[in-house]
Amino acid sequence: MSSLQYEAPLPFDYRVVRSRRRRTAAIQIKGNLVEVRVPHWVTDDWVSGFVRERQAWVAQRLSIVVAQRDRHRLEVQDGASLPYRGGWIRLHWQPGAASGCELSGDTLIVGLSRRIRRPEATVAEEQVRGWLLDRAGEALPARLRHLASQTGLAPAGVAVRGFRRRWGSCDNRGRIALNWRLVLAEPGAADYVLIHELCHLRHFDHSPRFWQLVAQHCPDHRYWQDYLRERSCWLEW
Ligand SMILES: [Zn+2]
Repeated sequence: MSSLQYEAPLPFDYRVVRSRRRRTAAIQIKGNLVEVRVPHWVTDDWVSGFVRERQAWVAQRLSIVVAQRDRHRLEVQDGASLPYRGGWIRLHWQPGAASGCELSGDTLIVGLSRRIRRPEATVAEEQVRGWLLDRAGEALPARLRHLASQTGLAPAGVAVRGFRRRWGSCDNRGRIALNWRLVLAEPGAADYVLIHELCHLRHFDHSPRFWQLVAQHCPDHRYWQDYLRERSCWLEW
């Protein structure tokens, strides 16, 4: 038999991390990235064989990640539902004289001017984002002030921003910025982010002391971290 056996390409890419200290091989899946951590002396062929033997397991784990991402993917179109502060609002496009949004019960009526020249979907999405941004501007700073007085951690300032990679930030002058997309999340998840940033006012790092303080004010912080990680696709909207 020939030694040149045909090997089907793997359905995923992986990155190899060689280490002098490592004595065993392991596969780590972070989001949709596959990392193979191995001792420095193993050959590429050995790594390839190691991954192939575990191919089914890796593929299964990745499909779970993909399924989770899809499950929480936002759908902004007429008739779709959008997560909003722990509940859902139904989107309803309504052609009319002027563009604008109005919440009626749990339906967000998105008025679309007949004079718009751009694609309706683009304008409707802008309207929905604008409406959510306004709600975030009303709700998040007020909630931060409330939690600040409850915890005794007072920020130097607060702003609402559109970060693409994080839910909030705290700079070294004590100014906190919050992602407007937090209004999509359950109030508990938003509170966790607010408390996380407030705790940075005392510990400007992610040290054990920092996490102790977070846990003190938000005992469910691990649950909300997972919740937000599963919904990280919201940051891309
Ligand atoms: Zn932090």
